[in-house]
Amino acid sequence: MQAYKIVVTGRVQGVGFRPTIFNLATSMGLKGYVRNDAQGVEIVVEGEKAKAFIERFSDDLPPLAKIETIEVRKVPSQCFGNFSILKSEEGTKRTFISPDMSVCPACKAELFNPTNRRFHYPFINCTHCGPRYTIITDLPYDRKNTTMDRFTMCQKCRQEYEDPTSRFFHAQPISCPDCGPRLHLGEYEGYEAIRQAARLLDEGKILAIKGVGGYHLVCKAQSQAVAELRKRKRRSKKPFAVMFKNIEAIREVCDIQETEERLITSKENPIVIVKKKDTDFGLEAPDIDRLGVFLPYNPIYVLLFECIDFPLVVTSANISEEPIVKEEEEIEKLRIADVLLWYDRKIERSCDDSVAVCVEDRPLFYRLGRGYAPRSFKLSNLLPPVLAVGAQQKGTIVLGFDDTLIVSPHIGDIANIASFEYFKKVVEDFCKMYDVAPQYVVHDLHPMYETVRYAKSLGIQTYAMQHHLSHVYAVLAEMELSHHSMKDEKFLALAWDGTGLGTDGAIWGGEAFIEDERVAHFGYFDIVGGERAIKDIRLCAWSLARKHGFEMGDELFALGYAKKINSFTTSSVGRLFDAVAYFAQLTDRQEYEGYTGLLIEKAYRGGEDRYDFYIENGAIEIDFTALIKDRKERIPTRFLNTLRDIIVAMAKEYDLPMLFSGGVFQNKTLLTIAIDKLQKAGIPYYFPSLFPINDAAISLGQLWWFKNRFEANP
Ligand code: ZN
Ligand code: ZN
Ligand code: FE
Repeated sequence: MQAYKIVVTGRVQGVGFRPTIFNLATSMGLKGYVRNDAQGVEIVVEGEKAKAFIERFSDDLPPLAKIETIEVRKVPSQCFGNFSILKSEEGTKRTFISPDMSVCPACKAELFNPTNRRFHYPFINCTHCGPRYTIITDLPYDRKNTTMDRFTMCQKCRQEYEDPTSRFFHAQPISCPDCGPRLHLGEYEGYEAIRQAARLLDEGKILAIKGVGGYHLVCKAQSQAVAELRKRKRRSKKPFAVMFKNIEAIREVCDIQETEERLITSKENPIVIVKKKDTDFGLEAPDIDRLGVFLPYNPIYVLLFECIDFPLVVTSANISEEPIVKEEEEIEKLRIADVLLWYDRKIERSCDDSVAVCVEDRPLFYRLGRGYAPRSFKLSNLLPPVLAVGAQQKGTIVLGFDDTLIVSPHIGDIANIASFEYFKKVVEDFCKMYDVAPQYVVHDLHPMYETVRYAKSLGIQTYAMQHHLSHVYAVLAEMELSHHSMKDEKFLALAWDGTGLGTDGAIWGGEAFIEDERVAHFGYFDIVGGERAIKDIRLCAWSLARKHGFEMGDELFALGYAKKINSFTTSSVGRLFDAVAYFAQLTDRQEYEGYTGLLIEKAYRGGEDRYDFYIENGAIEIDFTALIKDRKERIPTRFLNTLRDIIVAMAKEYDLPMLFSGGVFQNKTLLTIAIDKLQKAGIPYYFPSLFPINDAAISLGQLWWFKNRFEANP
C-alpha cells in the first residue's frame, strides 16, 4: 500500500486547511491523519489513491490558505483504520498569523437567513473569515490564545467547532447570540443597537463604532454632520474615506475602472482612492478630485447598511497621527462622538484599514493593514534573527528568522509617544509570538528618529541603512518574493520622496541608484525654516526662487536666507512639488502630507508641454527660472511633464530598466504618464504592488539589504 507523509508550510493554520484535507482524503477513501504542527500542517495518507491525493490537494485550497512549501516523503504504512484530524503538536511557534479578513459570502448568507441561529448576529465568522491579528494574544492560534478566551462556547457552537465537516471547524472566534460578545448602544443590544445607530446617523449624529482593528468615527456623508466632524476632529482638509452600501452606490458618484472595482470588491476590502464624478462630495475630500471609497467589511457594517440608504463617512478615530483608538475609555476621552456603538471583546492590538489606488492593472498601496498584513514569506536561505525598524513616518517593522520574514501592518508616524508605545508593542508581540530574540537590528541613518534610538537601546549589533537605498531594496525584495521575471536584472532605480538623511548630511529625496551607487540626484538647494517649511511651503518656494536669482519672500525670510538660519540642504522632489504648488498659486500651506501633489494632479491637463532640464555630472536641474515666470495655470501640467521626461531621459541615458520607489510616486498621474512613455519607448519598468511605495516599505528594504549582505559574507 502507498503511504506518504506531507509537510505543508505557509498560511495553513486557522484558515480551514485541515477540514479541506479531511474532506478530500475521506472522499478518496484514504486513511491516515492531518494535524497542525510547529512548522505548519502534517498529513499522512495511506491507500490506493494516495498519489492522486498528493497531486490534487493543493488545487482546492480554502480561500485564506497560502502554501509556501510542500515536502513529500514515502513512509511505511501504519494501517490506519480511518482518516482523522489529530490534536495540535505543541512545540515552537512557527506558523503565520493571518490578517483580519472581511465577512465571507457564506457568513453573510446566514446573517440574513431568519431561520439561522446567527440571524442578524453581528459577530458571525468562520474558518474563512473574521478577526485574527487583532485578537491573537499568543501562538499557536487557538481559542485560548485569543481575546475570545473569556467567552465560553455554548453546546451548539462547541459541536460546530469540533465537527470537521462544518465550516466553523476550529474557527477560533466562533460564537453565537447565546455565548459570544455583545454589541451595545446605550441600553440597546445586538441588532436593536444597530437599528438605533442607523436612526442616529440619519439624524446627523456622530458615532464612534468599534470596527475590527479599532474605533471609527462615523457620520452621514454629504450632510452637515461632516462639517461638524471636521470641527470636532480639528481636521480641516485631510480627506475622509466614505463607505457605501454596494458597488452600484459607488458607481453613482465615482468613475471607477474595472481594476478598481475588482480591488474594492475583493475579499481584502481595502479603501480604494478613485476619481469623483462631479458631485457634491466636497467636505469629504475638499479641493481634490479623488475620494477614498470602500464597502462594509464586517457583520456590524453589513447590518448597519441594511438599515440605511445613504453613504457614511468612516474615518479612523485617533488624535492626528497617533494609532487608531481601540479602548472604550480612550474613545470617551476623545470627546468627538455623540454615541458609542461598541462590543465587549477586547482588541489586542489595533490595525488600520488598508489604502490603495490602481495604476495600470495593479494596486499601488499607500497603507497595508486589515485584510493584508501581517504578511509572511518563506525565504530560500536561512537568516539569523534580525529586526528592521523602518524610518519615522508610516512606521512598520519586519522580523526575519530562519527561512521566514514577517512584515507588520501599518503602525503610524512614530514621532509621538502613543505611536512609539504601539511600535514597541508590535516589536515585542512579534518577538514573543514567534519566540525570536533578534541578534541584529537595522535602522535608518537619521539620528533623531525614535526608531533609531530604540534600535540602539537594544544592546545588539546595529546596522544603519541609508533611507533611499532602503526604498530601492524594498522593491527588490518584493520582486524576488513574488518571483518576478525581472528580478535578476540590473536597474536604474529612482527613489523620490519627501525626506531622508543622506550619507553626506544633506536631506535627500530625488535620487537615482544603480546597484548601491548613487548615480544621479536633483540639484541641491537650501531651504530656510527647518521643519516649519514642511507646512509653510512659502519658505520652500522662496528658498528655491532665491537659488535661481529671484528676490522672493518677506524681510524676515531674506535675513534668514542670508544667514542660513535653520536651513537644510536638499535634493527632495517632494519639496519641489510644494514649491511648485505655491508658484502655481494652488496653496501656500501643506494641509496634509501629499496635499500639494494632489492639487497639482487635479490641475494637470496632459500634452507634451514642459520646461527645459539638464542632467550634468549626475545633477538634475529643471529650468525653474522659466517655471517661476510662467503663467500660473500652465505650471502644474508643464512641471509634471518635465518630471516625466526626466525619467524617460534617464532611462535612455543609462539604458537600463527603470524601478520606481519613494512616496513621490504615490502621485498616480506622474507614475501613469511616466510608465506610459517608458512603454512607448520600449523600456521595461517596475513599480511595487505588494508593499507600499512610501516609507512603510523602509523596514522591508532595510531587512532585505541585511539579508543580501549576510548571504554575501555570513
Ligand atoms: Zn465566514
Ligand atoms: Zn454559541
Ligand atoms: Fe522615504
